[in-house]
Amino acid sequence: MGEIIFWTIVRIVIMIPILWISESYISSQIWWLISSLAIYGVIFHPAFIHYRLFKTKNKEVLESTLCSTCKNFDESAVLCMLHDKHPTKIFLPCDGLDWEPRSSSVDSEDFYRM
Ligand code: SF4
Repeated sequence: MGEIIFWTIVRIVIMIPILWISESYISSQIWWLISSLAIYGVIFHPAFIHYRLFKTKNKEVLESTLCSTCKNFDESAVLCMLHDKHPTKIFLPCDGLDWEPRSSSVDSEDFYRM
């Protein structure tokens, strides 16, 4: 995920001076249209595609591994924060020994009072 954000920022940094310089060469009505298309086509669309690929590539890890139910798992980076490693479908950094359930929205004491 960080890679997607990084390259989006790189594309933004490249596009801003290009659009700024092109403003003096193109009439303003066309410049707005070109700028809007360029911003979508160069910045947003590649980011959406990369995000979709990221979700597809990591779908099994995010949905059907022990890590996906562990409180030490960061879904946005597909990372075990305890071991600072990326789990896969066939690789668990802790071999399941450090698994801890995610805390539920209902506190256990509240649950027993009900
Ligand atoms: S502690 Fe173990 S189960 Fe939990 S996210 Fe890390 S590797 Fe996965």
